[in-house]
Amino acid sequence: MSEQKNYSVLAFYAFEPVADPHAEVVAQKAFLQELDATARIYISEQGINAQMSLANNDVERYVTWLREREPFKNADIKIQLHHEHAFPRLTVKYRKQLVAVDCDIDLSQRGQHVSPTQWKKMLDEKTGALLLDVRNDYECKVGHFANAELPPCNEFREFTRYLQGLKERYDPKQTPVMMYCTGGIRCEVFSSLMMQQGFETDYQIHGGVIKYAEEVGADHWQGKLFVFDDRLTVPMGDHDTPSVGICHHCGKPSESYYNCANMDCNALFLCCPECLTTHSGCCQDSCRQASRLRPVSQQNAHKPFRKWYHYAKDKSWGKTKEK
Ligand SMILES: [Zn+2]
Ligand SMILES: [Zn+2]
Repeated sequence: MSEQKNYSVLAFYAFEPVADPHAEVVAQKAFLQELDATARIYISEQGINAQMSLANNDVERYVTWLREREPFKNADIKIQLHHEHAFPRLTVKYRKQLVAVDCDIDLSQRGQHVSPTQWKKMLDEKTGALLLDVRNDYECKVGHFANAELPPCNEFREFTRYLQGLKERYDPKQTPVMMYCTGGIRCEVFSSLMMQQGFETDYQIHGGVIKYAEEVGADHWQGKLFVFDDRLTVPMGDHDTPSVGICHHCGKPSESYYNCANMDCNALFLCCPECLTTHSGCCQDSCRQASRLRPVSQQNAHKPFRKWYHYAKDKSWGKTKEK
């Protein structure tokens, strides 16, 4: 039975100066509150990073309104259909940095955008470029480009350290890099970092893997695509691809992500239904002994959970220290 897809999941970003980001937060929120919308939107002086789901009927209204706002008039908006909202609520916030980094980055020096078709052609031709996945390691586990470097990193600091090792294995001057991430925004920042480190030629997919899936499909891709909303994974366009994900506990094929039931851990991991039960939804034995365990439900376990202090804050479950 095919479900009715009455919602659109939108993703876009823009690195364009926003004169008054706080006023922009208020404006976006006020406009979206009038629509059937959920979102996770961050705005800074540097621009916007936006993901949202809208009732299909409201998409045109929002896009028309957005296009009239100077910094965002050319933003490339990616749209996918879904059967329900993809975010828990409407969140629009100011953030100092759109992509969390801990060093100064010169965004005027960035990699070259190539279209998804061009990207596929480069992979077909086996140019010898270094194919680099700049997403977090748990995102790569469910799917990635074939033969890509998958850095074992979960935060920017680890990535900068990883880059030092990469420079020892590859001559930055002689090695063209093909870098990709989910929607493209991380590549904007990471490519400038790599250029600062001496990697001279850097390509990135215009619109990220989401755009690639939409325009090219699953060619050269293995598995599914991880996304940062309630869907957690999406297929590559209309294509059904064999699973590459494996259960964190037993190693059997699995494409279902769960947050560890220990609310102070909350690690996201792939798990099969059997192990979910036998390990009480936990990522490791020590987590099963923890004091703040949420009950495991097969039904809603696929939706991302938050750490304990988010619940404490949201649902007034008593006072907990904010980290
Ligand atoms: Zn298992
Ligand atoms: Zn855990």
